[in-house]
Amino acid sequence: MLLSKRNVQWLIEHTYLDDDGIVRCDRTHEPISMAHVRRSLWFPHMIGGMGEVRTVTDLACLECNPYAQPPRDGSGIYENEIVNVPELCDLSD
Ligand SMILES: [Zn+2]
Repeated sequence: MLLSKRNVQWLIEHTYLDDDGIVRCDRTHEPISMAHVRRSLWFPHMIGGMGEVRTVTDLACLECNPYAQPPRDGSGIYENEIVNVPELCDLSD
């Protein structure tokens, strides 16, 4: 699963993995919402990208942040802002 570095940091600070493997909010214990968004890969020092697209998962707690909107489909993200997280449980304490 590809996540933005920003989301990984948020995940570490604000969520936990329950016994059933569900990622939940530390504060409300609600499941975290995951949106799978196709993002255009951008590269530093280039204008735009080379047409490569990756599916990046956007995480949000809709209890704490009911107006959270995932990024637009096709919006750009720098390739060095993406982290591959094979198992979410690797992140939990
Ligand atoms: Zn929350």
